[in-house]
Amino acid sequence: MTSKNATESVPADAGSIAKAAAILERGGLVAVPTETVYGLAARADSDDAVARIFAAKGRPNFNPLIVHVRDVDHAQQFAHFNDKARELAHTFWPGPLTLVLPKRSDAPLAGAVSAGLPTIAVRAPAHPVMQQLLDAVDFPLAAPSANRSGFISPTSAAHVLATLDGRIDCVLDAGSSEQGLESTIVAVREDGSVEQLRPGPID
Ligand code: AMP
Ligand code: MG
Repeated sequence: MTSKNATESVPADAGSIAKAAAILERGGLVAVPTETVYGLAARADSDDAVARIFAAKGRPNFNPLIVHVRDVDHAQQFAHFNDKARELAHTFWPGPLTLVLPKRSDAPLAGAVSAGLPTIAVRAPAHPVMQQLLDAVDFPLAAPSANRSGFISPTSAAHVLATLDGRIDCVLDAGSSEQGLESTIVAVREDGSVEQLRPGPID
């Protein structure tokens, strides 16, 4: 499905968002603007689709992916939220905060998303295009930065194509990313303590 030909870059209007949703439904790869950087999205519930992310990026399979969701209710299908996690999500979502939480044993997710860990990273993004895409599909989206492994995270469609042209199906172009900085990642432990795993836009 992921073509060897040039990747299509399209303005992120309603029509192309619907087309992107259909590509994702079939297990394809779509680069999507978020408020942090451009992400490389695939359906997170499909082993094949998630494997395509790792292949397109050349990403080592021990590096887990962030699962993008609509909101806290959606995230609770995949992760266990304690009071602290719920408080953080209600304060900072939608927005550039990723929560690493205990993974639900019944979470409908490809195993490679969490690279075999008992935890899962979840985030509800604030960018309207990513939100419209999440509304258009009935699965969560695994989405690391849309660059080949070892390259800098992209903040524009042209920047995505610089390393992934021909390796992914489509790029939704919505101009420059607002933050240009990847999400803050925190792990919330069972006892409510919080550990920062990656610095980012949220202190
Ligand atoms: P990227 O999407 O390329 O910004 O990378 C996602 C980041 O989230 C990587 O640094 C991962 O190590 C981190 N991450 C994802 N899932 C987990 C997890 N379950 N535990 C700890 N870190 C995680
Ligand atoms: Mg990255």
